[in-house]
Amino acid sequence: MDSKILNFYAFNSAKYEVKKDKWNDVNLEIYYHKGHEYNLDRMMSGMKASLDYNSKNFSPYQHKQARIIEFPRTSGTFAQSFPNTIPFSEGVGFIADVDDTEKGGVDYPFAITVHEIAHQWWAHQVIGADVLGATMLSESLSEYVSLKVLEHQHGKDKMRKFLKKSLDDYLTQRTFEKKREKSLMYNDGQGYIRYQKGSLVFYALSDYIGENVLNDALKQYVKKVQFQDAPYTTSIDMVNHIKAVTPDSLQYAINDMFETITLYENRIKEVTSTALDNGKYQLDIEFEVSKYRNDEKGKKFYGDTLSYKTEAMRKPIYSVPLADYIDIGIFTEEEDGEGENKEIELYLKKHKITEINNKISIIVNQEPIEVGVDPYNKLIDTNSNDNRRRL
Ligand SMILES: [Zn+2]
Repeated sequence: MDSKILNFYAFNSAKYEVKKDKWNDVNLEIYYHKGHEYNLDRMMSGMKASLDYNSKNFSPYQHKQARIIEFPRTSGTFAQSFPNTIPFSEGVGFIADVDDTEKGGVDYPFAITVHEIAHQWWAHQVIGADVLGATMLSESLSEYVSLKVLEHQHGKDKMRKFLKKSLDDYLTQRTFEKKREKSLMYNDGQGYIRYQKGSLVFYALSDYIGENVLNDALKQYVKKVQFQDAPYTTSIDMVNHIKAVTPDSLQYAINDMFETITLYENRIKEVTSTALDNGKYQLDIEFEVSKYRNDEKGKKFYGDTLSYKTEAMRKPIYSVPLADYIDIGIFTEEEDGEGENKEIELYLKKHKITEINNKISIIVNQEPIEVGVDPYNKLIDTNSNDNRRRL
């Protein structure tokens, strides 16, 4: 090896065909079973996209090659990242029949490849101590990179399907928890926390504080801890780096996302659209914003200040005290020339919300057809289906 590695490696042996390519000076190779050529190009472009994103944002790649090696699905349907070597099941990419991604299909051979390559940083450069929250440093970050690469490829407006899937999977799988659910930064390693919640949280944070701001903080963190010997780094160190670059007005989000289990209940209540004389449209939107916390057994609570309790008693629903920034979006549709309707954003802005019940008026230039509160499902919301309302 060209640099120090973990005592962690795989042996794969078979009669392989090899597809070769290059990324800068790095040799890229996919070892595959003859006849399984379907998605080699998707996987090769996933390797390049991930090497690009991670090296640009965090630190240089540490090896002279990167290799994907196919294995039969009789041995499992997963991929795993060892130093510069990624055993990859035929069942999670090689024989996939990827649906048309423009019509809602997910190119998972590409997305999984991006995730596994990201582990060369997030597991092999940053090595977490074997304590609570360790998988936030590896799995959540690799999945975050996968979402960001998809965003750069498809555009922000296409992210809802990925975010909503992660959100719905998180919400469903946590209901089967038998032991306890802890916050992201102290999680016990459950998949629904480290993958689904973790990727949603880092994605939302990149939107709230800015992708460059978040990635620069992570870059400083990588620089500090990469290729460390024991004692290894923990999630506390990473979260402290993130806190340091987060403005005071958004520190609440760090508490909600990393330190507690916080869920929103945001919904559109009423919308009216009025055509104005000048050709514009006025939207009067009524919406609710509230959030609650869960303890590790799933018991609901709303914060701990007495004064708030009294205030909350007068209201139909309760909330943890709010000073939150929430996206309000207004959309229309246009025909894309191929008979498909394409969503167009007329308005998207974060509003500071301090009350559960809200009423705002916004004027847009075109006739709107849909309105939403947190319309892209960036936040963890118990019911994401009532965040949008068609007019
Ligand atoms: Zn992983």
